[in-house]
Amino acid sequence: MKIAVVREARTETRVALVPEAVAKLVKAGHEVTVESRAGERADFSDADYTEAGATIDPSGIGHADVVVSVNPLESSRVGLLRRGAATISFLPTGQSLYLVAALRHARITSFSLELVPRISRAQSMDALSSQALVAGYRSAIVAAGLMRRFFPQNMTAAGTVQPAQVVVLGAGVAGLQAIATSKRLGAVVKAYDVREAAAEEIASMGAKPIDLELESLEGSGGYAREMTEERAEQQRELLTPYIAEADVLITTAAVPGRQAPRLVTKAMVEEMKPGSVVVDLAAETGGNVEGSKPGEVVQIGNANVWGGENVAGQMPGPASSLLAQNIVNLITLGADEDGAWAPDFEDEIIAGACVTHDGEVRHEPTREAMAEGSADAEQQEQGSDDAEPDQGSDDAEQKEGSDETEPEGTDS
Ligand code: NAD
Repeated sequence: MKIAVVREARTETRVALVPEAVAKLVKAGHEVTVESRAGERADFSDADYTEAGATIDPSGIGHADVVVSVNPLESSRVGLLRRGAATISFLPTGQSLYLVAALRHARITSFSLELVPRISRAQSMDALSSQALVAGYRSAIVAAGLMRRFFPQNMTAAGTVQPAQVVVLGAGVAGLQAIATSKRLGAVVKAYDVREAAAEEIASMGAKPIDLELESLEGSGGYAREMTEERAEQQRELLTPYIAEADVLITTAAVPGRQAPRLVTKAMVEEMKPGSVVVDLAAETGGNVEGSKPGEVVQIGNANVWGGENVAGQMPGPASSLLAQNIVNLITLGADEDGAWAPDFEDEIIAGACVTHDGEVRHEPTREAMAEGSADAEQQEQGSDDAEPDQGSDDAEQKEGSDETEPEGTDS
């Protein structure tokens, strides 16, 4: 099959396939084209890709069976793809309804890495986990870098330096990696998560699970459930003394499909000691910490509060290598015995990750959101002659830069 690697737009540092992954695909008999400088920001040169067996070709995406990128293709480029071609990328469908309509209209088979089911057979394709691992590691390194004190205990002739006290909130993939990294750096780590199973996982990393004696919030598929406001208030109150004692607070809590839960208020941060550091990995999705800003360090009380923004992309080489392996595994799953692209829609992983195929939106929640969107648009049109369908600001931006033919409206 023919595979094309896109050069990312905007400020993305990662690349969907690294040279090592290209070499594996070429060895398996596939043809790979790469847009010039696609890997530049992740420290891979065009020469690295050609050595791995790829061709540098700006028109590659127009001939490919499968087009791979980190971020979804801009809707202005969808028209360049072959009818029936596939795309594999992160694709947050809820924020990409206009793009999904364009993909459906162009009869592209699109796969969203966020939608790969979290079953054990799909672990090697789980890009959310691989990127969370990078972000979790990075969060501890950032905290250690911002803190003007030691992480480890030091016993010297001049006296003993006490180890840093780190508190981690949310002990999923990123949180466990933040714990492991903080431990390796020598800190004393305590952690809290609403899931019952998390306490054992926290302890297995050598950290102390914080027991607030609250009921656990287990949702479906091993994820957390959303908190009620009453529970959130209780949790914040009980966590306050732990946070006041900490030198470093790292927050990683998330509930799938929702804004990040607010775990820490400004008042709680204001209780922290001079020189404290807060790292909020959830800053981009609403923030676990009140007042954190993605991509910025803000001062709240005595603490420096670092808000994460594309945190995995801050280590673009390793993040891309792991992501590339996830993508290679997904491509391999979609190939037949002869190496041709022939995804089996009976397969739970293929079916679960597919957003559009053969002129249809396969992902039900997206289909419903599009139907609601077009109902809203109809209502707006009835109310005002100038009304535009509300496609969200991201899509509106893409639309502005696009000169493609307008895709059909959303499902009605
Ligand atoms: P996530 O990114 O959705 O959330 C991060 C963590 O935040 C979770 O552990 C969650 O319990 C926690 N959290 C949510 N609300 C909280 C609150 N109010 N207070 C404190 N913590 C809160 O989760 P994730 O890292 O993707 O992983 C979640 C679960 O899924 C874990 O059990 C993990 O082992 C499992 N998982 C399974 C697979 C697989 O089977 N393929 C892959 C990855 C993760």
